[in-house]
Amino acid sequence: MSALRLAVSLVWLAASLSPSHADQEWTYEGNNGPENWSRLGYKDCDHHRQSPIAISSREVVLRHLDPLRLDYFDHAPLRMNLTNTHLGATASMKARPELVVRGGALPGEYQVVGFHFHWGENDTVGSEHILDGRSYPLEMHIVCKNAKYSDMKKATQRPDGLAVLAVWFEVGAGPASGLVRLASALRRIRGGGSSTLVQNPPSLLELMPASTEHFYRYEGSLTTPGCYEVVTWTLFKDTAKITEKQLQLFRSLKGYLKPIGHNYRFVQLRYGRTVYERRALDEGDAAEVGLVAAQGPPGAVSAAGALRPGLAVFWRALAAASRAARLPR
Ligand SMILES: [Zn+2]
Repeated sequence: MSALRLAVSLVWLAASLSPSHADQEWTYEGNNGPENWSRLGYKDCDHHRQSPIAISSREVVLRHLDPLRLDYFDHAPLRMNLTNTHLGATASMKARPELVVRGGALPGEYQVVGFHFHWGENDTVGSEHILDGRSYPLEMHIVCKNAKYSDMKKATQRPDGLAVLAVWFEVGAGPASGLVRLASALRRIRGGGSSTLVQNPPSLLELMPASTEHFYRYEGSLTTPGCYEVVTWTLFKDTAKITEKQLQLFRSLKGYLKPIGHNYRFVQLRYGRTVYERRALDEGDAAEVGLVAAQGPPGAVSAAGALRPGLAVFWRALAAASRAARLPR
């Protein structure tokens, strides 16, 4: 990708695909804030497949899904640019081979386009998605385009156009985080609109939780105008770790004259949408997943209990008695 094309796709992402008919700038507060986005001309923001949402772990539907396959996510990209868009921090990258996500019941194969972050003024807010009433201080979105569409414009016009992988960050100690290697780049983009090359960029895997086995899945939208309803969401249940010092780097980024402060959209109604949770089949509570029922009646599970010594003796005695009853005298 040439530098120009890189810059163009960066601006494309940064502007979050704003439709041309919207003549006003959107923001995260005030008259042009989230509750007024549809009135600014971004009509989809009012529809019924919107993101983010609040997830309740008691209301999810457990499913045995194939694991996600994250091809080349462990490779450091050839080039990574980090940009302060006035409303957030967005990374674009050049990677060879291309980073691809597939499996995990995604409706296609998706190429990574870039990633960005959402945060808040303090540790109690920041994430867009909420789990069991809890917000996290930082949420990262890895934006991926369905490989069957040639560009982002086409992808944002199709219900299966995009897949976004969401990572919740929580304050705490963890394995060496890729955020360490974004720190100096974050310091260089304090000013709204500034952009920098990330030296020694981290791989995406270094920015993700140690395990990507467990995740939530639902159908939603972009969380910024135009709010296009084209996103298959994957939210990893395990969190990545961040330090207070690293969080301060995000909070120090300026937008138009003052700090960005917060850049998360409030949660949207689900309107009957189901949130699925992926569990591996070999986990203890597999019976809840519903697959056991597909393989045999619920009795098949408890019948395994008949192999317990006491019951086995009982069944053998019964069979022997039955045979004896039939023996000719
Ligand atoms: Zn986002």
